[in-house]
Amino acid sequence: MARAVVALDPGLPYSERPGLKGRPMPLTITDRARLRSLTHHTRHHAEQLLSEVDAPMRVTSTRRTPLRNRQVGGSPTSYHLRGRAVDFAGDRTTLVRAAGLAWALRLGPGCTGPEEVLLERLGQPGQHLHVAW
Ligand SMILES: [Zn+2]
Ligand SMILES: [Zn+2]
Repeated sequence: MARAVVALDPGLPYSERPGLKGRPMPLTITDRARLRSLTHHTRHHAEQLLSEVDAPMRVTSTRRTPLRNRQVGGSPTSYHLRGRAVDFAGDRTTLVRAAGLAWALRLGPGCTGPEEVLLERLGQPGQHLHVAW
């Protein structure tokens, strides 16, 4: 199920924007640009998750070039290389809740859900949620 995504002032962090549960979460210009590099299916999952989590969460990594993937120490078979993985940054509580939502959410009857849901470096600098669809 595709959801409309509305662009608001890109300077506003998610915490200050209206993100009522079940409504589209407005995305910054940077987030939108990053999400455009994904496959259509993965982008819709990422947008759905950002909408449903209803808390501040930023998109920090999407599709990577092989060079970029090596620079960040990514797996040589990473879903990021195929535009199918997204990293989200946020506070610990938000990321843990988003991980549960990522497992549960579906786009429609034919959707089998995520391939990977990983809470990485939780409680440490650079903590993030990695999801591949
Ligand atoms: Zn799906
Ligand atoms: Zn990742």
